[in-house]
Amino acid sequence: MSERIEALGDWQRTNLAGDLRTADVGRAVTLCGWVHARRDHGGLLFVDLRDRSGLVQLVCSPDESATAHARAGELRLEYVVAARGMVRERPAETVNAELPTGAIEVAVDELRVLNTARSTPYPIDDTVEVSEPNRLRYRYLDLRRPRVQRNLILRHDVTRMVREHLNAANFLEVETPVLTRSTPEGARDYLVPSRIQHGSFYALPQSPQLFKQLLMVGGLDRYYQIVRCFRDEDLRADRQPEFTQIDLEMSFVRPTDVMEVVEPMIANIFTAVRGTPTARPFPVLSYADAMRRFGSDRPDLRVDLELDDFSTCFAGTGFRVFAEALAAGNAIRGLVVPGGGAALSRRELDELVGFATAQGARGLTWIRIAADGWQSPAVKFLSDAERERLGGAARLSPGDLLVLLAEPELLASTILSQLRLQLGERLGRVARDEDRFLWVVDFPLLQRDPDSNRYAAVHHPFTAPVDTELDRLEGEPLAIRSQAYDLVLNGIELGGGSIRIHRPDVQLRVFALLGMSETEARDRFGFLIDALAFGAPPHGGIALGLDRLVMLLAGADSIREVIAFPKTQRAVCLLTDAPTPVDPAQLRELGLRLL
Ligand code: ASP
Repeated sequence: MSERIEALGDWQRTNLAGDLRTADVGRAVTLCGWVHARRDHGGLLFVDLRDRSGLVQLVCSPDESATAHARAGELRLEYVVAARGMVRERPAETVNAELPTGAIEVAVDELRVLNTARSTPYPIDDTVEVSEPNRLRYRYLDLRRPRVQRNLILRHDVTRMVREHLNAANFLEVETPVLTRSTPEGARDYLVPSRIQHGSFYALPQSPQLFKQLLMVGGLDRYYQIVRCFRDEDLRADRQPEFTQIDLEMSFVRPTDVMEVVEPMIANIFTAVRGTPTARPFPVLSYADAMRRFGSDRPDLRVDLELDDFSTCFAGTGFRVFAEALAAGNAIRGLVVPGGGAALSRRELDELVGFATAQGARGLTWIRIAADGWQSPAVKFLSDAERERLGGAARLSPGDLLVLLAEPELLASTILSQLRLQLGERLGRVARDEDRFLWVVDFPLLQRDPDSNRYAAVHHPFTAPVDTELDRLEGEPLAIRSQAYDLVLNGIELGGGSIRIHRPDVQLRVFALLGMSETEARDRFGFLIDALAFGAPPHGGIALGLDRLVMLLAGADSIREVIAFPKTQRAVCLLTDAPTPVDPAQLRELGLRLL
């Protein structure tokens, strides 16, 4: 095999392969790309030439150019070539209607081999399933495949639309540091040792949160950045150690002002990509209502089932399980499943009980409304009056199913929200091909961390409490609402943000509730408290997860499908093998010794 490699020389590419159409017939073209396929048909050599735009068929005939034909005979898959020739119509019987360029071909008169290629570990083709480790180890080959390329093109289109929208709304794109100090978003930091100051470390930002606030203090008024964030977490399917946010911040705003910038931006992106209009305005639900009706602060509104509180139906009940729960201050919450009684077998109903107990519930009560009456292991404990109240409150009709839980709030929500999704799926009550957006607002400011029994910020420590509740901050911390908001799509949190604390005294009070003494607060966040004391304007913003957004738009099942060089679940880059051990000399330079 000849390995003669030529230079591109003075050839200049005139067209992209996949763009050629019948209108180009008669045109002399110079194309560059990869050998995607090669066929030898009785003297004629056919080469499918591939570039980012697609494929075109090259024909090399010994009669038209003996040299080009001979050169084509040496080609192997994935060789890099440049070809010069004439676009011509294909003979009618060889037209390929499947291919956008299928009506034409290029009759080659000169061919240059720009590089050879080893045989690839898998075909450069979407029709073949390749294992993920193999895809990631040779990601540059995987990137040659149309599906991954489509995803990256989509990602580019999304960021372009984001920039256009925000530029038009007078935002400035500003870069913030990657080597910084810890920016708490609730995850572990990635640390970078300082060579110049042994024993000191930079942290990679979990988000640009504090810098974007400082940009507001700096008078920049409106900031955005499409920015990498780093969080050292245990990875799940839709997480990466480094991920990208569409991050923005605005001065002199209320929550609705931020929402009014973001909502049309997201709606326009979905309209453009889906090709169908996105319904607006997005509904707005308070956190309390979301929890009550769906058991979740990011409910999937495509599922046509709702939870309710049926406690009042059981006032003074003789059903011991419910009586005890009510006495303990728990609610009797339930999910009405129209048609669920008819659709689920006795065994499947028992499985619901098994599911609930496996999650830590003491039990689950199901009631099936059959044509000839109510069926339920609990039916004998319920009085006629209770049944009447319940039937009315839950609007039960024959064929329906009611599942009831008498557990503490959080546990009941967790279980019922999952049952809502499972049963919605099982009974075909999910509007699969709709995009159902919503805003969730009025989150609590603080929650109790079950491990430490301390207060923890629901959003982050810089989120402002509702102004009118500020005077009750120390009195009833858990009852205070924050000015935070989340954007949710189909049960997935696309992003979240808040109005921030812009007064140093309020920031110190919140730090104090979080268990930080003033000394500690000044030690860690002195720069922020100082900045707030120099005339910080009221401000707020939001961050949206770009990877997840593009994943949803691409219909992909992992964010790794929309990231050019992702890491595995074990946070390893299979392409470069990072992270790797380092040279002892490097450690010495950094003043580090391994344990
Ligand atoms: N910094 C926040 C986050 O990363 C977003 C925000 O509050 O703007 O989730």
